Parts: sequence; structure tokens; C-alpha cells
Amino acid sequence: MTVYLVGAGPGDPDLLTLRGAEVLAGADVVVYDRLSVTSLLDLAPPHAELISVGKQPGGPRTSQDDINALLVARGRAGQQVVRLKGGDPFVFARGGEEAAALAAAGVAFEVVPGITSAVAVPAYAGIPVTMRYSSTSFTVVTGHEDPTKGEGSVNWEAVASLGGTVVVLMGAARCRPICERLIAAGLAPDTPAAAVQWGTRPHQRTLRASLSTLADLEPQPPATIVIGEVAAADLAWFENRPLFGRRIVVTRAQPQASALAADLRRRGAEAIELPAIAFEPPEDLDRLARAAAEVGRYDWVVFTSPTGVARFFEHLRDARSLGEARVAAIGPGTAAELAERNVVADLIPEQYVAEALLEALADEVGSDWPGRVLIPRAETARDVLPDGLAAAGWDVDVVPAYRTVAPAPDPVAAALLADAEVITFTSSSTVTNFVDTYGINTVPKVVATIGPITSATARSRGLEVTIEAAEHTVPGLVAALEDFFAR
Ligand code: SAH
Repeated sequence: MTVYLVGAGPGDPDLLTLRGAEVLAGADVVVYDRLSVTSLLDLAPPHAELISVGKQPGGPRTSQDDINALLVARGRAGQQVVRLKGGDPFVFARGGEEAAALAAAGVAFEVVPGITSAVAVPAYAGIPVTMRYSSTSFTVVTGHEDPTKGEGSVNWEAVASLGGTVVVLMGAARCRPICERLIAAGLAPDTPAAAVQWGTRPHQRTLRASLSTLADLEPQPPATIVIGEVAAADLAWFENRPLFGRRIVVTRAQPQASALAADLRRRGAEAIELPAIAFEPPEDLDRLARAAAEVGRYDWVVFTSPTGVARFFEHLRDARSLGEARVAAIGPGTAAELAERNVVADLIPEQYVAEALLEALADEVGSDWPGRVLIPRAETARDVLPDGLAAAGWDVDVVPAYRTVAPAPDPVAAALLADAEVITFTSSSTVTNFVDTYGINTVPKVVATIGPITSATARSRGLEVTIEAAEHTVPGLVAALEDFFAR
């Protein structure tokens, strides 16, 4: 089997290569460092063994010899091994030593290059490492060696005399001696210089100064230092995104939580996924199966959630069994779930709440005989819709399609709550379960809800609601968050 030396990129999980994702998906073992992005580990199959070889706080670092021996042993044992390394595996990452150990032991290996922080971190800070005419080269140097000790192998005079951009990795701790050494070697003290901390991550921070003043700003690791004319460029885009740096808790159920979290991340937020509900099959699955088999006998089928659609269609053996039944969706998210199954909703109310759906149905049907309606939905839900339809003379069948349950508390994610700024609630049950599971004192100071029903539940649990989506959809909620932080 093969050992893959995989570059994970500088931090933004989307900067992993396609090949990197592919070999991770087939990994038996993943050997990773402390700075690794944990969400990349989720790409490994559930059975994969995850081995951290980074320095644990207070603990020892695994020696390079031990890491090499581990890779050789696992490779020999016939496992698919992924050695995940920050940035590119061959740029200041000792990937060369690991490859040499594998080659010497006769273990097959493959190198999957990664996007190095030397180029990507400046890019995320809006600094191009070259510019036509003014910066015609860039030199990447290690800042690991102490330039005052004379023991190092970096030729700082040569670096200074090149005249292009200088990128220093691992230089935060020695920022001052490095800058002084470059000035002594002939670079002008007012040469623009920048240090980008935690580049490509939601808490990226760019310090801008000159060669003589950068050290006063005390850059903290991990930082990429850029020195040269280009460091004055401020083509900021990453740090300008509307939710940049905001820590936002997502309480929706999986898999929708990940979709919302991805949406927030694209806007620059740090999304913390802490699902407060999970879906399980209803007590009486036969009833759902029967309803699906006989759906053609109804005049209307009304869906009040995407999950209701998903669970109902699992039991619909043949699309034609829908027959003449017309289909209503409470909102665009539910309608999209139907559309994925090639069913176009006949009716979506203008407001995405049960009251509005009831009214829209009454309008649509007019003076016709109201007929039979099937509502496949959560086992416990509000009765506004079925009661209203029954009162108007409809023959209503409410069939449980799923049950919502509170998942077990997640202590790792819960630890992140203390630093979170915003919590999002997309349904009343997310509020109730979250408060019951984690307690009211853990709720971040800004509460954002999808609409009035959820807000009412939040208030009834003693929360103050700061943001309420005007359009009661997930995109509406994201837009409301953007508006709030734009002000
Ligand atoms: N192989 C890696 C570099 C490893 S050396 C690569 O190709 O990117 C580790 C150094 O990389 C850090 O000290 C820092 O200088 C830089 N670095 C890594 N991740 C970074 C990040 N997210 N932001 C800024 N610098 C980073």
C-alpha cells in the first residue's frame, strides 16, 4: 500500500487539492500535525485511525524519527496512510525527510502537493507576491534560525540584494532580529512589511508596517511575513467579506447544519456546528408507508419541512402514485426539496408560516369542495394547519414522517460557545433543545431567528432576540445577519 504525503493547504479547508480529498477519503490512517484543520479529518472514512503527531500543549512533540518510523510501519502493514501536512509537504515541512525514510525502507509513497502559505497567505491578505516590473522575484526563507548567532545557513545579504519580495515563514518569534539583519544587509528601513497571522482562517489578521517598525507590532505565530514594495498593497477581499471574523453557532439538524455553516463561512464567518435536533423515524412507520402508497387518493399533499419531503419520498415507490394530488410547500426550502425529486410545488404561500399556508390553500381551493388533504410532517408540531383545514371542512390526515430528538451534547463544540458572538435558531425545537441541553447561560449574546414563531419560543425561554429574518428562510436568515453586521 501507499503512503501519501499530502499538502493540506494553509488553513482554509477549501484549499485542499482534489487529489488530497480523494486520498483522504480512502485513508486507513491519517497522521496529522497540531495546526491541521480538523474539518479536513472529517473527509477520512469513519473507521480511519487519526494519529496526532503535533506538540500537545504541555506534552512532548513526537520526534521526526518516530514519525518516519510510524509511516514506514503503517505502510509496510499494507494500510493506506495519509500524512497530512500544512501548506505544501516539501516547503519547510520535513516532507523530504519522510519521503527519504519511506524510499529507504522500500515503502511506496506519493506526494500530493499543497498550496503553500508562502503564496496563499499573502494572497488572502490582498498582497500579490510579484508585480510586473517592481517586484520580479520572491524569495521564501525560513525564520527559524537565529540571524544574530551566525550559525544559520540563510544568506541574508544575498536575500536582501535580490531586490524582490522576501517571504519569511516561521519568523514571528524572531521578527525583530530578522528585520534588523535585512536593514544591516542593505534594505531601506522604510521598505513596506506586513505580517499575516492565521492567514486564510476566519480570524486572519494582517499587521502592516515597515521593515523598521514591524517588530513593534509583535506578530504572533503562525504568521507569514512579507517584505518588499508589494507589502504596501492592500487589495483586501478576504477580510472585507460581510461576516468576516464573526463566530456564529448553527443549531440546525445535520445535514442542513453543514449547508448553513458553509454559507456563513463563504461570507467570512467562523461557523460552529452544534446541531440541537436530529431526525429519527416515527413510531409508526407503517402509517407513513401506507399514506405514501395511497397518496393519489388525496386532493392535496402539504409539506411543512424539507425533512418531511425527504422522509415521505423514501416511501414513494413510483412517482406516478402521486396521481392527481396537488402539492403545497410551506416555503422555498421545502419546495426545493420537492424540486430535487422532480415535483414542482403547486402552491407556496407568500409568508412561510402555517397561518399563511392555511390562508393560501383556502384561496386556491375557492368555493370548490375542500376535499382530502395529507400532511406528512414531524410527529410533534403545531396544530394550526390541520385544525384550520378541518374547521374549513377538509378531511385531514396528519401522518408522522419523522421524529425530532435532541442529540447527545457535543462537549468539544460546546467548549467553543464561550467565544461565540451569535447563535442561530431555525425552528422552535432548536431553541427548546439547545436551552435544555446546554443551559441558558451558554447562549451567545446575539440571538438570530428565522421568524416570529421561533422568536416567540426563544422569548418564552428567557432569551432576547436581536435579529429576526424578514424572509423566513435560511437565505433570509443569512441576509439578516449580513444586514446586522453591516450596520
Ligand atoms: N509547509 C508549510 C510551511 C510550514 S512552516 C507551507 O507550505 O505553508 C510553518 C510556517 O508556515 C508558520 O510558521 C508560518 O510562517 C507559515 N504558516 C502556516 N500556516 C499559516 C497561516 N495560516 N497563516 C500564516 N502563516 C502560516
